[in-house]
Amino acid sequence: MTPSDSVQYLRGVGEKRARQLAKLGIVTVGDLLRFYPRDYLDYSHPVPLAQAPYDAPCAVRATVYGRQPPLRISGGRTLYRVSAGDETASLLITFFNSPYAADKLQPEREYLFWGKVGGGLTRREMTSPDFLPADSRAPLAAIYPLTAGVTSAYLSKLAATALAALPAPDDPLDADLCARLQLPALREALQQIHFPASRAAADTARRRFAFEELFCLELGMKLLRSRSRRQSGARMTVCDPEPFYRTLPFAPTGAQRRAVAELCRDFAGVAPMNRLLQGDVGSGKTLVAAAGMAIAAQNGFQSALLAPTEILAQQHAVTLEKMLAPLGLRVALLTGSVKGRARRALLAAVAAGEADVVVGTHAVLGEEVAFARLGFAVVDEQHRFGVRQRGLLAGKADNPHLLVMSATPIPRTLSLLLFGELDVSVLDELPPGRRPVRTMAVGTALRARMYGFLEQQIAAGRQVFVVCPLIEQSGETPSGSEEMQAVTEYRAQVAQKLLPGRRIGLLHGRMKAAEKQEVMRRFAAGELDVLCSTTVVEVGVDVPNASVMVIENAERYGLSALHQLRGRVGRGAAESFCILVSDHDTPPVRERLAFLCHTTDGFAVAQFDLEHRGPGDFFGQRQHGLPDLRVADLAADARLIETAAAEAAALLAADPALRAPRHAALAAEVERLFANAGGAVN
Ligand code: ADP
Ligand code: MG
Repeated sequence: MTPSDSVQYLRGVGEKRARQLAKLGIVTVGDLLRFYPRDYLDYSHPVPLAQAPYDAPCAVRATVYGRQPPLRISGGRTLYRVSAGDETASLLITFFNSPYAADKLQPEREYLFWGKVGGGLTRREMTSPDFLPADSRAPLAAIYPLTAGVTSAYLSKLAATALAALPAPDDPLDADLCARLQLPALREALQQIHFPASRAAADTARRRFAFEELFCLELGMKLLRSRSRRQSGARMTVCDPEPFYRTLPFAPTGAQRRAVAELCRDFAGVAPMNRLLQGDVGSGKTLVAAAGMAIAAQNGFQSALLAPTEILAQQHAVTLEKMLAPLGLRVALLTGSVKGRARRALLAAVAAGEADVVVGTHAVLGEEVAFARLGFAVVDEQHRFGVRQRGLLAGKADNPHLLVMSATPIPRTLSLLLFGELDVSVLDELPPGRRPVRTMAVGTALRARMYGFLEQQIAAGRQVFVVCPLIEQSGETPSGSEEMQAVTEYRAQVAQKLLPGRRIGLLHGRMKAAEKQEVMRRFAAGELDVLCSTTVVEVGVDVPNASVMVIENAERYGLSALHQLRGRVGRGAAESFCILVSDHDTPPVRERLAFLCHTTDGFAVAQFDLEHRGPGDFFGQRQHGLPDLRVADLAADARLIETAAAEAAALLAADPALRAPRHAALAAEVERLFANAGGAVN
């Protein structure tokens, strides 16, 4: 028998069972063996019956004395009862409606039972407990993730049958690697994950499968990346950022210079660049992109920048124009709201190569947009650009160089996974003279005082952002109209009452692009004192005179998102403040918000999110075809991720396409992992 044989070859699996198993994703014997338990019932520490706790399930050891006659009760139900006991107390076990379990318990034999123990002190009771013979050599019983009709006991039995039928499955991890990393070999690990001899053995087996999963994931990503290394049509020979630097009103930071040098190296190479630029809010990513554009222009290439919203596209266009016009570069803004004749003229200029830099939203990806010589594309990735869109952009020219700017710092280990197909540049240095934003968390009881403070700030000529509450929804993302309602009501009910006479603007996703731009323009020009908005709209917008960011219902957001919002202030000379408003006075919420109050490092914030909220926040930002990880825990297995990345790199250095015969099982496993995700590696 081989792992790819159908489970139907196993004893105990008929057509009906096979259908049920298929619902769990178990089609082959290999699938079955890799359907891992999610937990175990631990029978290894049974307690005397008299000492069994009343409120929590536990394991007890008891000898079965005999069965009692079935008892019919109301509702047509039947109780099957078994009497048992140990030295400390007797035990009455009841099963509802099912004679099978009771039938399995043999008189005079000893069993381990798992469940809640009730009843009196000398005669205790259990209802439908799980059980094992007391001499069982696997004192931990697997609990599998299940669907109707399949029980953990059934799956355990099948796993045992399969293990017996497959005495030596091919191990994707070779023996040296396992020995070096102190991981059990496949056969042993399968045995111990399904039938662990102890908790520790189960954990070790789990660690091996977590490593294998991460290792295969890393290998797959790296293989994908090496395959995308086609020749770039935008090979550049000149690379001198100095003329660009000289036009700036400030000196670039060391980190910015380093990142630009990394771009230059990639630009000169044969393969197109695929690079991620990571940096905290305010670290100056735009400058790096602009330098790249200046260099592309030196070499006669056009550049494009894609922003997630119109407002951001517009702001980027203004910023880039300021930075690049002194070098004689022409920057064009292309969004959905550029229409008619203006649009046709713009498209003609792009096609003729007269526009050096095109900034836009996804409109830039539209079919009618043709570049004369696109050489460098920048994606300001804020949650919305996936691999697919990036592919579209790359298709606009002959493999242009690609820079993805990540708005959210991502813990290093995660970026290895999420952006495994990209090289990474990090801006780990803020421009000089930044004052950290003073952050505080307040309950709504302090709202009146907070508004007193806002009043002072406004009187001193500053401006205020308020990110508004979302309406309570049962776990769903509120729709645009709900957000609009929330913001509108907030302005009427709260802001206008507490800040009488102040000019309060409104920004939400339901407004037309032109309306949004007008509001942003007025806020940026100081014609509004307060801007009430939803989170969606204003992220990334730069208004140096704004000195306060108020975030209502702060408990709703991940710390990374809050940190991102906080980055909207503190861009000018004045001392800036971020006020996190929350009514949720629970310890976890308080702890999270307090962490943000004391931390300004975006990477530390991201790490905290990862540990406390899991990786969901980060994954949400990419609509990629990343495989599902079954075993690895991205927060807890950080060290394992680093090991897997290093081992994968070493292995591919020796066998770049994973073609060596001794890597066949590994290549198959990588293929399987990615095939399940819908994106084959080969
Ligand atoms: P982010 O990385 O968040 O996108 P930006 O590119 O928007 O950051 O830069 C934030 C602010 O810092 C901008 O106002 C920009 O002009 C300014 N800035 C960028 N680099 C420097 C520098 N080296 N020295 C001083 N100010 C800088
Ligand atoms: Mg930015």
